[in-house]
Amino acid sequence: MNDPTISRRLVLQQLASLGVLGALGTLRAGPLAAAASTEPAQTVAGVSGKVIRRRDGDYELWRQAMVWHDSKPDRYPDLMVQATSTQDVIAAVKYAAQNALRVAVRSGGHNSNGPSLRDGGMLIDVSAMSDIAIDEKTQVASIQPGVRSSQLVGAALEKGLSFPVPHCPSVGMSGFTMGGGIGWNYAQHGGFATFSIVGAEIVTAAGQLVKTDAQTRPDLFWALRGMGPGFFGVVTRLYLQLYPVPVSMMASSYILPLDDLPTVTSTLDSIREKNEMERVELLVLLLHHPDAPPEAPAADAKICFVTAFAFEDSVEQATAALAPFARSALGSKSAVKIENQQYSYEQLYETYFSLEDPGGRMARYAVDNVLTDEGGKTLEALAGHFRHGAPTRDTHVLAAFNMQVRTRPDSCISWNADTYLGCYAIWDDPAEDERNFAWVNDAIPLMDPFAVGHYVNEVEGRGHPDRFRQCFTDENWQRLQQLRAKYDPNGVFHHYLGHS
Ligand SMILES: Cc1cc2nc3c(=O)[nH]c(=O)nc-3n(C[C@H](O)[C@H](O)[C@H](O)COP(=O)(O)OP(=O)(O)OC[C@H]3O[C@@H](n4cnc5c(N)ncnc54)[C@H](O)[C@@H]3O)c2cc1C
Repeated sequence: MNDPTISRRLVLQQLASLGVLGALGTLRAGPLAAAASTEPAQTVAGVSGKVIRRRDGDYELWRQAMVWHDSKPDRYPDLMVQATSTQDVIAAVKYAAQNALRVAVRSGGHNSNGPSLRDGGMLIDVSAMSDIAIDEKTQVASIQPGVRSSQLVGAALEKGLSFPVPHCPSVGMSGFTMGGGIGWNYAQHGGFATFSIVGAEIVTAAGQLVKTDAQTRPDLFWALRGMGPGFFGVVTRLYLQLYPVPVSMMASSYILPLDDLPTVTSTLDSIREKNEMERVELLVLLLHHPDAPPEAPAADAKICFVTAFAFEDSVEQATAALAPFARSALGSKSAVKIENQQYSYEQLYETYFSLEDPGGRMARYAVDNVLTDEGGKTLEALAGHFRHGAPTRDTHVLAAFNMQVRTRPDSCISWNADTYLGCYAIWDDPAEDERNFAWVNDAIPLMDPFAVGHYVNEVEGRGHPDRFRQCFTDENWQRLQQLRAKYDPNGVFHHYLGHS
């Protein structure tokens, strides 16, 4: 604890989890919106948590803190309610329904579109509700909606258990799981973490607290598992199936020049054809080399970063699972390789996608994606756009192979797919917004020909509201609209961004 780097990281993580860092960053850059109001603070009957009105002096600080990253949308709710209990949520929803205030929900605040910030209406912030209880017998975690990834990791590890948590420690568990959720060790758990939701408590548009699971209100359960940022209720508790911690978590990483991408993709195809890969998470990143000197031409500093993570029952099994990578052209051709490194979950966070990592740091974000069965070809189709067009050093393309997603009757996840592939623009200067959005937008026609579908948590819905629709089959989309009409007939809750 005396190590200043560790202390700094802990402070950063705490501030980040409160959304405060992002807010301060933006406030430093611009003037505060409102002058302090002299009127007494607003109360909402039955709500004990803080209520913030648009005319309150601290409104802008709170508004910006609702979004974790620095892409703060110019959208202004009338009221923000920081719920501290399920009773608060019930009272807030009833108040909103009676006063014709449309409701949006915020938990971890990570969604790149900032969907919790809408113009007018009420934002219910559930991030302060963060209790976790674990039933060791059933290995089910009961979590409140504000729980973050790293909190669940810590609580589960104490019981020798794990969950396919997000790759970054500060992501909200409810937004992540409700929209799908591609977490650590996804390959072993159906690709998406949403399949590990086994029940929930939800405050409906009528202000009623209802339970749902596979037997109770199965239609609501179906929508909950995959609908994401268009959901029509407030989840106040999730029940998540946990799993024993893999005995051995081992990773082998290979760095090759971007020119070698065809070798990388054909090698991975061949390894996967010949070997069982059910317990291997396989990530390929197209990156700007983090150590490339600033004067190096950007196009020359681009690399492929391949990591195979084995989550196994023994060190021997993990070593065997990674052996085909070591024996392949990846092993012989890579400029840098680190093989058979053992990790704990905490170390995975520190090493990959930490708050200080280019891929997980607080910045401005835009992202879009495909789910595909042709991950290699999709990467190749994007290589030139990435090499010559990437607007910043942190811009990257991420392919998660081996997801093996299969649709199920109890989830609205709509596609069978092997690979998730996302294009991420990450930048700091607001003056660069246009260039970065353009890079993501221009990636869409390059990757879409390979798509079987899209992942709803990571589409660029600000410029393309139709992307949300494209995350579901026609049949599932229609059913979601019918369920919305059933559970929220008066439109208390916001739809997906850009949909009414
Ligand atoms: C740095 C970073 C790392 C990421 N890593 C991963 C990753 O490893 N894997 C992955 O799959 N995704 C990842 N994501 C994407 C992430 O899954 C989505 O952005 C997700 O929506 C974040 O959820 P949240 O609760 O933090 O966000 P919020 O912005 O708070 O929530 C998004 C929306 O979800 C809905 N919602 C959330 N909670 C509730 C609730 N309790 N009740 C009702 N509706 C609710 C609301 O509509 C809300 O507006 C990452 C994003 C970032 C910025």
